[in-house]
Amino acid sequence: MRDIIIAGNWKMNKDMEAVRAFCKDVAGAFKGKVLGRVLPILAPAYPFLAIMLRELEGSLVKVAAQDTSSHADGAFTGEFRLPCWLHGLQYCIVGHSERRAYHHESNEIIREKLLAVMDNGMKPILCIGETLEQRDGGITDQVILEQLDGCLRGVQLYSGKELIIAYEPVWAIGTGRNATGDQAQEVHRLIRKWLTDQYSKDLADSLSILYGGSVKPQNLEELLSQPDIDGGLIGGASLDSKSYLAMMDIAINHK
Ligand code: PEP
Repeated sequence: MRDIIIAGNWKMNKDMEAVRAFCKDVAGAFKGKVLGRVLPILAPAYPFLAIMLRELEGSLVKVAAQDTSSHADGAFTGEFRLPCWLHGLQYCIVGHSERRAYHHESNEIIREKLLAVMDNGMKPILCIGETLEQRDGGITDQVILEQLDGCLRGVQLYSGKELIIAYEPVWAIGTGRNATGDQAQEVHRLIRKWLTDQYSKDLADSLSILYGGSVKPQNLEELLSQPDIDGGLIGGASLDSKSYLAMMDIAINHK
C-alpha cells in the first residue's frame, strides 16, 4: 500500500510568526488523530526549517527543504548545503519548475542535487512536468520521459520508498487551472510504466507519485480517485492551515 502524501510547498512565503502559528494549528489538530497511511509534509523557506522541526517535534508531520546545493561546500555564494545536521529533516524538493525556469536548472543539475539528498540519507521529492507550449505541441510524454531519464540516470533505487515523484504541469502551477483527474492520471500512468521498465513492478508499485498544480480542497478528491495519484504537492492552498487541514481530512477519509 502506497503512502498518500499531502505536501505543502510554501515557497518564499510566511514570516516566523506565521510559521509558528501554522505549526500550532496543525499540531493541535493532529493530536490524537489517526492519520492511517496519510503522510503530511511541509516545506517552509530555508530559515524556518529549524523552527518548524522544533515546533512540530513529536507530531506526525515531516519537514522538507525546498532545495539544496549539489555541492558539499566551497565558493558558492548564496548557496546552501542541505543541513543534514538538522535532526529530523527527512525530505528535500528538487527540480521544482520555478528552479528550472528562474535558475536554469537542467536535468543534470537536478540529478546531482537528487544524489546529494540521497547521500545525506534523505528522500528527494523530484518534480517534473511540461510547459503549456510543450503540452499544446503534443510532446508532453516526450518531455516527461526525458526528465525521468535525465534526473534518474544511473540512480539506484531499491524499494521505491527512497524517492517521491511529483508530476507538476507548469501551466497548472499557481494559475488556478489544475489538470483534470484524467489528464493527470495519463501522465502518472506513464511515469509508473517508466519506473516498471527501468526498475521493477514492485518498485513502481511502492513509489508515491504526487500531482501538483492548483490542488485545493475542492479538487483533491477527484485527483485522489485516480489509481496512480498518491497525493499532492501543494503551493497556494497549503499556506492556510484550515485549507491544509481540510486537505488532510479529505486524504484521511479517502477510500
Ligand atoms: C507548487 O508550488 O509546487 C504548486 C503546485 O503550487 P500551486 O499549488 O499554488 O499551484
